[in-house]
Amino acid sequence: MSEWNIEEAERVYGVSQWGGGYFRIGEKGNVEVTPVPEDTSISIDFKAVIDEIREEGVQFPVVVRFHDVLRSQVASLNTIFRTTITEAGYNGQYQGVYPVKVNQMREVVEEIVEAGAPFNYGLEAGSKAELLTVLAMNTNEDSLTILNGYKDDEFMRLALLGRKLGRKIVVVVEKYSELLLLVKIAKELNIDPIIGVRAKMTVKGRGKWESSGGERAKFGLTITEIIKTARYLEEQGMAHCLKLLHFHIGSQLTDIRAVKEAMTEGARIYADLHKMGFPLDYVDVGGGLGIDYDGSNSTNESSRNYSMQEYVADVVYGMKEMCDLEDVPHPTLVSESGRAITAHHSCVVTEIVGEIKSNSASIDTEVKDGEHFFVKNMRELAETLDQQDNMQEVYNDASQYKEQALDAFKLRVLTLEELAKIETLYWHIMSHLHAYYANEEYVPEELQELDYSLSSQYLCNFSVFQSAADTWAIDQLLPVVPLTRMNERPEVNCSLVDITCDSDGKIDQFTVGREITDVLPMHKLKKDDPYYVGLFLTGAYQDVMGDMHNLFGRLNEVHIYSYDDDPQDFYIEEVVKGSSVEDVLSIMQYNPKAMASDMKRMIDRQISNGTFNPREAVRWNDFYENCLSGYTYLKP
Ligand SMILES: *Cc1c(COP(=O)(O)O)cnc(C)c1O
Repeated sequence: MSEWNIEEAERVYGVSQWGGGYFRIGEKGNVEVTPVPEDTSISIDFKAVIDEIREEGVQFPVVVRFHDVLRSQVASLNTIFRTTITEAGYNGQYQGVYPVKVNQMREVVEEIVEAGAPFNYGLEAGSKAELLTVLAMNTNEDSLTILNGYKDDEFMRLALLGRKLGRKIVVVVEKYSELLLLVKIAKELNIDPIIGVRAKMTVKGRGKWESSGGERAKFGLTITEIIKTARYLEEQGMAHCLKLLHFHIGSQLTDIRAVKEAMTEGARIYADLHKMGFPLDYVDVGGGLGIDYDGSNSTNESSRNYSMQEYVADVVYGMKEMCDLEDVPHPTLVSESGRAITAHHSCVVTEIVGEIKSNSASIDTEVKDGEHFFVKNMRELAETLDQQDNMQEVYNDASQYKEQALDAFKLRVLTLEELAKIETLYWHIMSHLHAYYANEEYVPEELQELDYSLSSQYLCNFSVFQSAADTWAIDQLLPVVPLTRMNERPEVNCSLVDITCDSDGKIDQFTVGREITDVLPMHKLKKDDPYYVGLFLTGAYQDVMGDMHNLFGRLNEVHIYSYDDDPQDFYIEEVVKGSSVEDVLSIMQYNPKAMASDMKRMIDRQISNGTFNPREAVRWNDFYENCLSGYTYLKP
């Protein structure tokens, strides 16, 4: 065995691969955070963060937010667009917007608005609730506010209210009837709207969200409808209101070719509209900029084969080339990247609270008078393992004995105890085979599964449904790594299970040494030494899409800012409490106060019949009430 060191750990866990410049394994074997990639003098040891969270008495699991990472991503995207525009000799500007649906948390949106202020970076909303939010949050008059999604009368009025307040609010028409509604209300209120049209693209994205494009896409106008829109506005004397062309071909585009194709198609539509007498100011290329969740930099579904730099270059150069060929002006470019802005800034930290060992329980297998010969056969096989030279045959025999034993048990030939002995011996043989094949180059297919069936499950104090919804819903891969001890060789291969009563509540897909595996190398649990794992890149969608399956509520949140003058380079700026049991029960229409008084009555009744003395009754009442106001997760 080669020596274990940080390089080995990096090879196994690939932290720098998916870390986007923000995460790496430090010399002490802990995950380290460099929230400003250009300034590696600021480096936060995750162990120090965990220690401080514990000192503050915040219960795990927690969401840890690195606000500087969020700011860095906003700055990167805007700066890259600016430099690329200059390098390309592009005559338009970049005016990006952040789509709040990706993470609507107030602290996140506030931070993005503030970090984006120097770039006039705006917001995008896709529903009435989000529109109410962005109206209040985006107060920068020089930035754009883009409104997508389906709209009703109230939605249009709110948008026009924003126009009255002097904001650059663009209503993007998703279907033709919305246009008629918007024109009617705009005339009634006598307010000039800024109108965009969303094109239904023929090019499809690549990856899980590819159906956002194509003819059966849910959103957007066909080319015919776009022309009808332009002509209708002309008839209504409102052609000057048509300012923006929008397209969005799907999230997490895995292949850069999709971006190139969309740019060609979109730029052609823009250019021809211009030549038809509709000079639009803006082209909005939507979202889709992908994240390398598995660190493979490939077209895997959880990865992408390009960088932010390459994406931006394809947008800017793609538009420039087409405009120059068609001899039309370069429009202002807008993009709606959400995933790429927020994914890195938050992670979920949870403690391993137990180990579920698979097939390791055993009972005494001593010879017993009158035992069934199936037990004897299996025992003989187990006792002669060292003399066997064909391990495949051992496997076949053992498997056959086990199957026969199960049938015999059902036919009332074997006793329960005999069956347990056979099972014990069987798994003893399997462990032997597993150890034997660990050093062999060729492992027969059925034996490869032993890795998984003999692996442990580490029980994590969290809910997949609340904190990693896409892992459950669409098999999204998220990087999961131990936060400490990576300078020690990991000796256990295990998958992770959560504390919900749902067998879907598990994580059994990982990237290990650049391959997708069903077990993750982890460290042996030590008594009195809590072992924490981090689920990374959860800032986009995962943070806000979770549900309350089993009544596990929102997590405690710790907001971290970096601070160069601090010895640890960070401070906790805010702790936001997660849901209490009372909170989640109230959402489900319970009345926790009434429940507490009902319980009190039931407990007090036991005083009169002598089950409790009055002091005990008070203690039990307090206990019930404390649990109601407590956290929904396990208290280790
Ligand atoms: C969801 C969405 C986005 C964000 O996409 P990302 O892939 O997260 O960048 C942008 N625009 C529209 C219209 C969307 O629906």
